[in-house]
Amino acid sequence: MIYVDNAATTKIDSDVLAGMMPYLRENYGNASSIYSFGQKAHKAIEVARNQFAEALNVQSNEIIFASCGSEGNTWAIQGVAQLMQSKGQHIITSAIEHHSVLNACRTLQAQGYNVTYLPVDCYGMVAPKDVEKAIRPETILISIMYANNEIGTIQPLKDIADIVHNHGILVHTDAVQAVGHIPVDIKDLNVDLLTASAHKFHGPKGVGIIYTKNGIVLPPLISGGHQEGGRRGGTENTAGIVGAGLAIQKSMHELPNMADNLRVLSAHLISRIREELPIIKLNGHHVQRLPGIVSLSLPNMDGEALLLQLDLKDICVSTGSACNSGQLDPSHVLLATGIPIELANGTIRISFGKYNTLDEINPIVDAICTAYKKSNRC
Ligand code: PLP
Repeated sequence: MIYVDNAATTKIDSDVLAGMMPYLRENYGNASSIYSFGQKAHKAIEVARNQFAEALNVQSNEIIFASCGSEGNTWAIQGVAQLMQSKGQHIITSAIEHHSVLNACRTLQAQGYNVTYLPVDCYGMVAPKDVEKAIRPETILISIMYANNEIGTIQPLKDIADIVHNHGILVHTDAVQAVGHIPVDIKDLNVDLLTASAHKFHGPKGVGIIYTKNGIVLPPLISGGHQEGGRRGGTENTAGIVGAGLAIQKSMHELPNMADNLRVLSAHLISRIREELPIIKLNGHHVQRLPGIVSLSLPNMDGEALLLQLDLKDICVSTGSACNSGQLDPSHVLLATGIPIELANGTIRISFGKYNTLDEINPIVDAICTAYKKSNRC
Protein backbone atom coordinates (compact mmCIF):
# COMPACT_ATOMS: atom_id res chain seq x y z
CA MET A 1 0.00 0.00 0.00
CA ILE A 2 1.11 3.57 -0.67
CA TYR A 3 -0.40 5.77 2.02
CA VAL A 4 -0.34 9.41 0.97
CA ASP A 5 -3.26 10.75 3.00
CA ASN A 6 -1.30 11.94 6.02
CA ALA A 7 -3.38 15.12 6.33
CA ALA A 8 -6.32 12.84 7.15
CA THR A 9 -4.39 10.90 9.74
CA THR A 10 -0.93 9.46 10.30
CA LYS A 11 0.46 6.08 11.27
CA ILE A 12 1.38 6.01 14.93
CA ASP A 13 5.13 6.14 15.55
CA SER A 14 6.38 2.86 17.10
CA ASP A 15 8.26 4.64 19.94
CA VAL A 16 5.06 6.52 20.73
CA LEU A 17 3.06 3.31 20.82
CA ALA A 18 5.67 1.61 23.01
CA GLY A 19 5.57 4.56 25.43
CA MET A 20 1.77 4.32 25.66
CA MET A 21 1.49 0.59 26.32
CA PRO A 22 2.38 0.61 30.06
CA TYR A 23 -0.49 3.09 30.63
CA LEU A 24 -2.96 0.69 29.05
CA ARG A 25 -1.81 -2.46 30.78
CA GLU A 26 0.17 -1.87 33.98
CA ASN A 27 -0.38 1.75 35.02
CA TYR A 28 -4.06 1.88 34.15
CA GLY A 29 -5.08 3.80 37.28
CA ASN A 30 -7.45 6.76 37.10
CA ALA A 31 -5.31 9.89 37.01
CA SER A 32 -7.75 11.62 39.36
CA SER A 33 -7.46 8.97 42.08
CA ILE A 34 -5.40 10.12 45.00
CA TYR A 35 -3.70 6.82 45.83
CA SER A 36 -0.23 6.42 44.37
CA PHE A 37 -1.31 4.04 41.58
CA GLY A 38 -3.56 6.83 40.23
CA GLN A 39 -0.88 9.44 40.81
CA LYS A 40 1.48 7.54 38.47
CA ALA A 41 -1.00 8.24 35.67
CA HIS A 42 -1.39 11.84 36.83
CA LYS A 43 2.38 12.36 36.74
CA ALA A 44 2.60 10.90 33.23
CA ILE A 45 -0.06 13.38 32.04
CA GLU A 46 1.89 16.25 33.57
CA VAL A 47 5.01 15.10 31.72
CA ALA A 48 3.03 15.24 28.47
CA ARG A 49 1.71 18.70 29.36
CA ASN A 50 5.30 19.87 29.85
CA GLN A 51 6.31 18.32 26.53
CA PHE A 52 3.66 20.41 24.75
CA ALA A 53 4.53 23.52 26.75
CA GLU A 54 8.15 23.18 25.71
CA ALA A 55 7.36 22.41 22.06
CA LEU A 56 4.94 25.33 21.72
CA ASN A 57 6.81 27.80 23.99
CA VAL A 58 4.07 28.33 26.57
CA GLN A 59 3.45 27.56 30.27
CA SER A 60 2.34 24.01 31.06
CA ASN A 61 -0.82 25.21 32.85
CA GLU A 62 -1.89 26.78 29.55
CA ILE A 63 -2.20 23.34 27.91
CA ILE A 64 -5.47 21.38 28.19
CA PHE A 65 -6.11 17.90 26.83
CA ALA A 66 -9.38 17.00 25.11
CA SER A 67 -10.65 14.31 22.76
CA CYS A 68 -9.75 15.74 19.33
CA GLY A 69 -9.08 18.86 17.32
CA SER A 70 -12.78 19.25 16.58
CA GLU A 71 -13.56 19.45 20.28
CA GLY A 72 -10.76 21.98 20.75
CA ASN A 73 -12.07 24.23 17.98
CA THR A 74 -15.64 23.99 19.22
CA TRP A 75 -14.64 24.74 22.79
CA ALA A 76 -12.38 27.67 21.89
CA ILE A 77 -15.02 29.37 19.73
CA GLN A 78 -18.14 28.65 21.74
CA GLY A 79 -16.27 29.16 25.01
CA VAL A 80 -15.04 32.63 24.04
CA ALA A 81 -18.51 33.49 22.74
CA GLN A 82 -20.04 32.57 26.09
CA LEU A 83 -17.30 34.25 28.10
CA MET A 84 -17.40 37.52 26.18
CA GLN A 85 -21.10 37.78 25.32
CA SER A 86 -21.60 40.89 27.42
CA LYS A 87 -18.86 42.65 25.41
CA GLY A 88 -20.29 41.69 22.02
CA GLN A 89 -21.55 38.96 19.74
CA HIS A 90 -19.48 39.26 16.57
CA ILE A 91 -16.87 36.72 15.41
CA ILE A 92 -14.57 36.84 12.40
CA THR A 93 -13.33 33.70 10.68
CA SER A 94 -12.43 32.70 7.14
CA ALA A 95 -14.33 30.89 4.39
CA ILE A 96 -11.75 28.08 4.26
CA GLU A 97 -11.81 26.85 7.85
CA HIS A 98 -12.27 23.22 8.84
CA HIS A 99 -15.91 22.22 9.35
CA SER A 100 -15.41 22.04 13.12
CA VAL A 101 -14.76 25.81 13.10
CA LEU A 102 -17.46 26.62 10.54
CA ASN A 103 -20.06 24.54 12.38
CA ALA A 104 -19.16 26.03 15.78
CA CYS A 105 -19.74 29.45 14.17
CA ARG A 106 -23.02 28.33 12.60
CA THR A 107 -24.26 27.09 15.97
CA LEU A 108 -23.51 30.52 17.41
CA GLN A 109 -25.30 32.23 14.50
CA ALA A 110 -28.39 30.18 15.34
CA GLN A 111 -28.13 31.65 18.85
CA GLY A 112 -28.04 35.22 17.52
CA TYR A 113 -24.30 35.84 17.12
CA ASN A 114 -22.98 37.48 13.95
CA VAL A 115 -20.16 35.86 12.04
CA THR A 116 -18.08 37.33 9.21
CA TYR A 117 -16.53 34.74 6.87
CA LEU A 118 -13.54 36.43 5.24
CA PRO A 119 -12.73 35.63 1.62
CA VAL A 120 -9.32 34.35 0.52
CA ASP A 121 -7.27 35.05 -2.60
CA CYS A 122 -6.58 32.51 -5.33
CA TYR A 123 -3.81 30.97 -3.17
CA GLY A 124 -6.14 30.54 -0.20
CA MET A 125 -4.58 33.43 1.71
CA VAL A 126 -6.50 35.72 4.10
CA ALA A 127 -5.43 39.37 3.79
CA PRO A 128 -4.62 40.98 7.18
CA LYS A 129 -6.17 44.23 5.93
CA ASP A 130 -9.47 42.40 5.35
CA VAL A 131 -9.39 41.23 8.96
CA GLU A 132 -8.90 44.80 10.17
CA LYS A 133 -11.73 46.08 7.94
CA ALA A 134 -14.12 43.46 9.34
CA ILE A 135 -13.54 44.44 12.99
CA ARG A 136 -16.53 46.04 14.72
CA PRO A 137 -16.90 47.44 18.24
CA GLU A 138 -18.75 44.24 19.20
CA THR A 139 -16.13 41.83 17.75
CA ILE A 140 -14.97 39.39 20.43
CA LEU A 141 -12.95 36.77 18.54
CA ILE A 142 -10.99 36.15 15.37
CA SER A 143 -10.48 32.50 14.45
CA ILE A 144 -8.16 31.93 11.50
CA MET A 145 -6.51 28.59 10.81
CA TYR A 146 -2.73 28.47 10.72
CA ALA A 147 -2.42 26.06 7.78
CA ASN A 148 -5.13 24.73 5.53
CA ASN A 149 -5.84 20.99 5.48
CA GLU A 150 -6.81 20.80 1.79
CA ILE A 151 -4.38 23.06 -0.02
CA GLY A 152 -1.67 23.55 2.61
CA THR A 153 -1.59 27.36 2.51
CA ILE A 154 -0.04 28.90 5.64
CA GLN A 155 -1.75 32.10 6.78
CA PRO A 156 0.03 35.33 7.82
CA LEU A 157 -1.15 34.60 11.35
CA LYS A 158 1.31 36.75 13.25
CA ASP A 159 0.45 39.81 11.15
CA ILE A 160 -3.25 39.12 11.72
CA ALA A 161 -2.81 38.61 15.48
CA ASP A 162 -0.79 41.82 15.83
CA ILE A 163 -3.54 43.83 14.10
CA VAL A 164 -6.32 42.18 16.09
CA HIS A 165 -4.59 42.70 19.44
CA ASN A 166 -4.39 46.46 18.74
CA HIS A 167 -8.18 46.30 18.96
CA GLY A 168 -8.17 44.25 22.19
CA ILE A 169 -9.79 41.20 20.55
CA LEU A 170 -8.90 37.56 21.23
CA VAL A 171 -7.29 35.40 18.53
CA HIS A 172 -7.81 31.66 18.12
CA THR A 173 -6.06 29.53 15.55
CA ASP A 174 -6.83 26.02 14.37
CA ALA A 175 -3.26 24.74 14.11
CA VAL A 176 -4.24 21.08 13.65
CA GLN A 177 -2.30 20.77 10.38
CA ALA A 178 0.57 22.98 11.50
CA VAL A 179 1.66 21.57 14.87
CA GLY A 180 4.29 18.88 14.34
CA HIS A 181 4.82 19.94 10.71
CA ILE A 182 6.15 23.48 10.87
CA PRO A 183 7.66 25.33 13.85
CA VAL A 184 4.86 26.72 16.03
CA ASP A 185 6.00 29.22 18.68
CA ILE A 186 2.82 30.48 20.31
CA LYS A 187 4.50 33.42 22.06
CA ASP A 188 5.90 34.57 18.75
CA LEU A 189 2.62 33.99 16.89
CA ASN A 190 0.90 36.09 19.56
CA VAL A 191 -2.34 34.07 19.62
CA ASP A 192 -4.57 33.60 22.69
CA LEU A 193 -6.00 30.18 21.89
CA LEU A 194 -4.73 27.36 19.69
CA THR A 195 -5.90 23.87 18.80
CA ALA A 196 -3.82 20.83 17.81
CA SER A 197 -4.53 17.12 17.35
CA ALA A 198 -2.11 14.27 18.12
CA HIS A 199 -3.12 11.93 15.28
CA LYS A 200 -1.84 14.43 12.71
CA PHE A 201 1.77 14.07 13.89
CA HIS A 202 2.13 10.32 14.39
CA GLY A 203 0.46 10.31 17.79
CA PRO A 204 -2.68 8.39 18.73
CA LYS A 205 -6.21 9.28 17.66
CA GLY A 206 -8.47 10.69 20.35
CA VAL A 207 -6.27 13.43 21.82
CA GLY A 208 -6.81 17.12 21.19
CA ILE A 209 -4.53 19.75 22.62
CA ILE A 210 -5.79 23.23 23.43
CA TYR A 211 -3.72 26.20 24.46
CA THR A 212 -5.51 28.95 26.34
CA LYS A 213 -3.41 31.91 27.44
CA ASN A 214 -3.23 32.36 31.22
CA GLY A 215 -6.05 34.65 32.32
CA ILE A 216 -8.56 33.29 29.76
CA VAL A 217 -10.84 30.91 31.67
CA LEU A 218 -13.36 29.40 29.26
CA PRO A 219 -16.50 27.76 30.62
CA PRO A 220 -16.09 23.99 30.11
CA LEU A 221 -17.68 22.42 27.04
CA ILE A 222 -17.84 19.12 28.91
CA SER A 223 -18.59 19.63 32.56
CA GLY A 224 -18.11 16.63 34.75
CA GLY A 225 -15.43 16.01 37.31
CA HIS A 226 -12.59 18.38 38.05
CA GLN A 227 -10.23 16.96 35.47
CA GLU A 228 -7.91 19.36 33.64
CA GLY A 229 -8.22 21.89 36.45
CA GLY A 230 -12.02 21.92 36.10
CA ARG A 231 -11.72 23.03 32.47
CA ARG A 232 -12.64 19.71 30.79
CA GLY A 233 -14.57 16.94 32.49
CA GLY A 234 -14.05 13.26 31.71
CA THR A 235 -11.60 10.62 32.93
CA GLU A 236 -8.25 11.41 31.38
CA ASN A 237 -7.12 9.34 28.39
CA THR A 238 -3.78 8.71 30.07
CA ALA A 239 -2.23 6.43 27.44
CA GLY A 240 -3.38 8.72 24.62
CA ILE A 241 -2.05 11.83 26.34
CA VAL A 242 1.28 10.12 27.07
CA GLY A 243 1.46 9.17 23.37
CA ALA A 244 0.60 12.70 22.30
CA GLY A 245 3.41 14.09 24.47
CA LEU A 246 5.93 11.63 23.06
CA ALA A 247 4.73 12.35 19.52
CA ILE A 248 5.19 16.11 19.83
CA GLN A 249 8.60 15.65 21.43
CA LYS A 250 9.72 13.36 18.62
CA SER A 251 8.21 15.62 15.95
CA MET A 252 10.12 18.61 17.29
CA HIS A 253 13.32 16.62 17.10
CA GLU A 254 12.62 15.32 13.59
CA LEU A 255 10.94 18.42 12.18
CA PRO A 256 13.81 20.14 10.29
CA ASN A 257 14.85 16.96 8.44
CA MET A 258 11.30 15.75 7.99
CA ALA A 259 10.15 19.05 6.48
CA ASP A 260 13.08 18.96 4.03
CA ASN A 261 12.20 15.39 3.04
CA LEU A 262 8.54 16.24 2.56
CA ARG A 263 9.49 19.23 0.40
CA VAL A 264 11.63 16.97 -1.79
CA LEU A 265 8.79 14.45 -2.15
CA SER A 266 6.25 17.19 -2.98
CA ALA A 267 8.56 18.91 -5.48
CA HIS A 268 9.37 15.61 -7.19
CA LEU A 269 5.70 14.66 -7.45
CA ILE A 270 4.76 18.07 -8.86
CA SER A 271 7.54 18.09 -11.46
CA ARG A 272 6.94 14.47 -12.52
CA ILE A 273 3.21 14.98 -12.90
CA ARG A 274 3.68 18.25 -14.78
CA GLU A 275 5.93 16.44 -17.27
CA GLU A 276 3.20 13.88 -17.91
CA LEU A 277 0.10 16.06 -17.57
CA PRO A 278 1.01 19.71 -18.17
CA ILE A 279 -2.65 20.74 -17.83
CA ILE A 280 -2.63 19.92 -14.13
CA LYS A 281 -3.18 22.80 -11.68
CA LEU A 282 -1.41 23.02 -8.32
CA ASN A 283 -3.65 24.58 -5.68
CA GLY A 284 -2.57 26.68 -2.74
CA HIS A 285 0.28 29.11 -2.18
CA HIS A 286 3.50 28.22 -3.95
CA VAL A 287 5.81 29.25 -1.10
CA GLN A 288 3.76 29.77 2.08
CA ARG A 289 2.60 26.17 2.19
CA LEU A 290 2.91 23.05 4.32
CA PRO A 291 5.78 20.91 3.05
CA GLY A 292 3.74 17.70 2.65
CA ILE A 293 0.38 18.70 1.11
CA VAL A 294 -0.06 18.69 -2.68
CA SER A 295 -3.51 19.55 -4.03
CA LEU A 296 -3.87 18.91 -7.75
CA SER A 297 -6.80 19.71 -10.04
CA LEU A 298 -7.33 17.92 -13.33
CA PRO A 299 -9.72 19.32 -15.91
CA ASN A 300 -12.23 16.81 -17.32
CA MET A 301 -11.65 14.40 -14.48
CA ASP A 302 -13.85 13.30 -11.63
CA GLY A 303 -11.78 13.32 -8.42
CA GLU A 304 -13.88 10.57 -6.88
CA ALA A 305 -13.36 8.29 -9.90
CA LEU A 306 -9.64 9.04 -9.76
CA LEU A 307 -9.54 8.20 -6.05
CA LEU A 308 -11.22 4.86 -6.74
CA GLN A 309 -8.80 4.07 -9.59
CA LEU A 310 -5.90 4.81 -7.24
CA ASP A 311 -7.52 2.71 -4.54
CA LEU A 312 -7.55 -0.26 -6.93
CA LYS A 313 -3.77 0.13 -6.99
CA ASP A 314 -3.61 0.39 -3.19
CA ILE A 315 -2.81 4.09 -3.22
CA CYS A 316 -4.67 6.16 -0.58
CA VAL A 317 -5.38 9.82 -1.39
CA SER A 318 -8.25 12.28 -0.71
CA THR A 319 -10.47 14.20 -3.07
CA GLY A 320 -11.40 17.85 -3.00
CA SER A 321 -15.00 16.94 -2.27
CA ALA A 322 -16.87 16.43 0.95
CA CYS A 323 -19.54 13.82 1.41
CA ASN A 324 -22.75 15.52 2.47
CA SER A 325 -25.91 13.46 2.98
CA GLY A 326 -24.71 10.88 0.48
CA GLN A 327 -23.88 13.53 -2.11
CA LEU A 328 -20.48 14.83 -3.08
CA ASP A 329 -20.17 18.58 -2.66
CA PRO A 330 -17.19 20.40 -4.12
CA SER A 331 -14.79 21.58 -1.45
CA HIS A 332 -15.66 24.93 0.12
CA VAL A 333 -11.92 25.63 0.32
CA LEU A 334 -11.31 25.17 -3.39
CA LEU A 335 -14.40 27.15 -4.34
CA ALA A 336 -13.29 29.98 -2.03
CA THR A 337 -10.02 30.20 -3.97
CA GLY A 338 -12.13 30.92 -7.06
CA ILE A 339 -11.60 27.73 -9.03
CA PRO A 340 -14.59 26.56 -11.08
CA ILE A 341 -16.78 23.75 -9.70
CA GLU A 342 -15.68 21.32 -12.46
CA LEU A 343 -12.04 21.80 -11.53
CA ALA A 344 -12.81 21.53 -7.80
CA ASN A 345 -14.54 18.23 -8.55
CA GLY A 346 -11.45 17.02 -10.39
CA THR A 347 -9.14 17.60 -7.43
CA ILE A 348 -7.14 15.17 -5.35
CA ARG A 349 -5.02 15.83 -2.28
CA ILE A 350 -1.81 13.90 -1.83
CA SER A 351 -0.33 14.41 1.63
CA PHE A 352 3.05 13.00 2.49
CA GLY A 353 4.30 11.94 5.92
CA LYS A 354 7.57 10.82 7.40
CA TYR A 355 7.15 7.22 6.27
CA ASN A 356 6.83 8.06 2.56
CA THR A 357 9.76 7.55 0.22
CA LEU A 358 10.89 8.86 -3.16
CA ASP A 359 10.31 5.49 -4.85
CA GLU A 360 6.58 5.84 -4.18
CA ILE A 361 6.31 8.86 -6.50
CA ASN A 362 6.52 7.07 -9.86
CA PRO A 363 3.74 4.56 -9.06
CA ILE A 364 1.53 7.45 -7.93
CA VAL A 365 2.22 9.50 -11.06
CA ASP A 366 1.74 6.46 -13.31
CA ALA A 367 -1.57 5.59 -11.64
CA ILE A 368 -2.87 9.17 -11.98
CA CYS A 369 -1.82 9.38 -15.64
CA THR A 370 -3.33 6.00 -16.50
CA ALA A 371 -6.63 6.94 -14.83
CA TYR A 372 -6.65 10.35 -16.52
CA LYS A 373 -5.92 8.95 -19.96
CA LYS A 374 -8.52 6.21 -19.53
CA SER A 375 -11.15 8.72 -18.50
CA ASN A 376 -10.27 11.10 -21.35
CA ARG A 377 -9.71 8.32 -23.92
CA CYS A 378 -6.26 9.61 -24.90
N1 PLP B 1 -8.82 21.28 11.84
C1 PLP B 1 -8.17 20.89 10.74
C2 PLP B 1 -7.48 21.92 9.91
C3 PLP B 1 -8.13 19.54 10.38
O1 PLP B 1 -7.49 19.16 9.28
C4 PLP B 1 -8.82 18.61 11.20
C5 PLP B 1 -8.86 17.17 10.82
O2 PLP B 1 -8.71 16.81 9.69
C6 PLP B 1 -9.47 19.07 12.35
C7 PLP B 1 -9.45 20.41 12.63
C8 PLP B 1 -10.19 18.12 13.25
O3 PLP B 1 -9.27 17.36 14.00
P1 PLP B 1 -9.75 15.98 14.66
O4 PLP B 1 -9.74 14.96 13.57
O5 PLP B 1 -8.71 15.70 15.70
O6 PLP B 1 -11.09 16.23 15.23
